[in-house]
Amino acid sequence: MLDTPDTALLRTVAEERAALNVIGGKTVGAQSGARIEVACPSDGHVFASIPRSDAADVDAAVRAARQAFETGAWSRMTATERGRVLTRLGDLVAANRDELAALESRDTGKPARQGVADVNAAIRYYEFYGGAADKAHGDQIPFLQGYTAFTTREPHGVVAGIIPWNYPLQILARVAGAALAMGNTLVVKPAEDASLTSLRIAELALEAGCPPGVFNVLTGYGAEAGVALSGHPGVDYVTFTGSPATGTAIQQAAACNNRGVTMELGGKSPQVIFADADLEAALPVVVNAIIQNGGQTCSAGSRVLIERPVYDAVTAELARRFCALVAEPHDRDGDLGPLINARQAHRVAAMIAEAEAGGTELLARGAVADDAPAGGHYQAPVLFGGVDPLSVLAQEEVFGPVLAAFAFDSEEEAVRLANGTQYGLVAGVWTRDGGRQHRVAKRIRAGQVYVNAYGAGGGVELPFGGFGKSGHGREKGFEALMDMSATKTIVFNHG
Ligand code: NAP
Ligand code: MG
Repeated sequence: MLDTPDTALLRTVAEERAALNVIGGKTVGAQSGARIEVACPSDGHVFASIPRSDAADVDAAVRAARQAFETGAWSRMTATERGRVLTRLGDLVAANRDELAALESRDTGKPARQGVADVNAAIRYYEFYGGAADKAHGDQIPFLQGYTAFTTREPHGVVAGIIPWNYPLQILARVAGAALAMGNTLVVKPAEDASLTSLRIAELALEAGCPPGVFNVLTGYGAEAGVALSGHPGVDYVTFTGSPATGTAIQQAAACNNRGVTMELGGKSPQVIFADADLEAALPVVVNAIIQNGGQTCSAGSRVLIERPVYDAVTAELARRFCALVAEPHDRDGDLGPLINARQAHRVAAMIAEAEAGGTELLARGAVADDAPAGGHYQAPVLFGGVDPLSVLAQEEVFGPVLAAFAFDSEEEAVRLANGTQYGLVAGVWTRDGGRQHRVAKRIRAGQVYVNAYGAGGGVELPFGGFGKSGHGREKGFEALMDMSATKTIVFNHG
């Protein structure tokens, strides 16, 4: 095909932003030379390209990480020093805040302010784990007479991180912060739809003083680079965030190599609103919890359970708010941006159409800006009411701006509905009744429960992870350091 002036210009732009893998302290392309074009979800324009890595590149990265681990340049560095490197990385991320936020926003289509929020959360992770590195210690255990026994926390070795496209800056930071703090070395494969900031962070890690081979990032397709990384025998531990189906494939690969995994697989998280709740406080939070990032959030509050006496009033107010929401290009910083790609946009639209065809009551539909570029992947926010608790809409992660409302008549029924999916990641409980706050928080099966709040601004300090299909293992907070290390028990017989 001949270049039109337009495509010629795009090629030049893409070549200008020809991002490179970071492997063994060097920036390199894929060994095959293959590349993947990077398009902006807001308009479909190609503005950059990334390496299409395959098994050979994965092997090089795992070898580099193994070598860096074995030399001890990182694992035997004092924990304090490792912490300082991570803290410096946080400072460098802060120094590049504007560039990283704009890049993340363009790469994922998220509104500009969400790009800034994501950089700020990433900075907090590097700061938190920088400070935590020398505070994760073992125990001394009372044992037999004449013996001294104690435990230490040992790194696994080479950790593989496979991360999704929804919050790359944040998820990379929570994986890298905890893994590196404990002395592991790291190979990360970001999603091919949103890899640019991860490559940039790996470069900044070198600048911060990470020895070569400690923090490797390579890009490529899940079916190619992802499969090669999760199945590589040189990997000691895998941490994954993404869909349950891919999580299963990665666990099967891990089983063949008998190694540990952390799985964060999304959710169908409920917000439970009792009739005595402070609705003025609750409703903006409920809307934001499903609209943020276009609903492409593992902890999106995608179900709202409402006590019958206030059901009509609450759904009417939610409908009013939904009707006012507009999806727009990322740089307009509107209520929400486009979805990440055409596949996700079709998937979400199909789930909405299926619910409508099944007779589910559509209470409100927001808008897509009239002048939104045709090449973008926009979806107007949608609110459904009276949803059948056994329907696909009630049970499956939509990963789009779609909220499903349900009515309940008792605390018992609220808990049953809240726990009525295979997922269990996050929940919100809205009530002024102190006893009920405690009872319901205790009975909901979720890794995090918020009372009269939701999401708590990222909560870098708060352990996070799922029950059931939402996965296992814990990220964030101090607890992630336990997942990213193994206990060694040392026993002395001194007579
Ligand atoms: P996905 O397949 O789970 O992708 C997540 C990551 O895994 C990406 O880096 C992907 O690479 C990689 N990957 C894919 N197949 C792999 C394999 N067989 N072995 C190793 N790595 C592999 O998610 P998706 O296809 O982008 O989205 C589908 C659905 O997953 C969404 O609709 C949503 O419901 C869910 N999801 C959840 C989260 C979350 O935060 N919990 C995040 C994203 C998606 P490539 O993308 O480069 O192929
Ligand atoms: Mg992208």
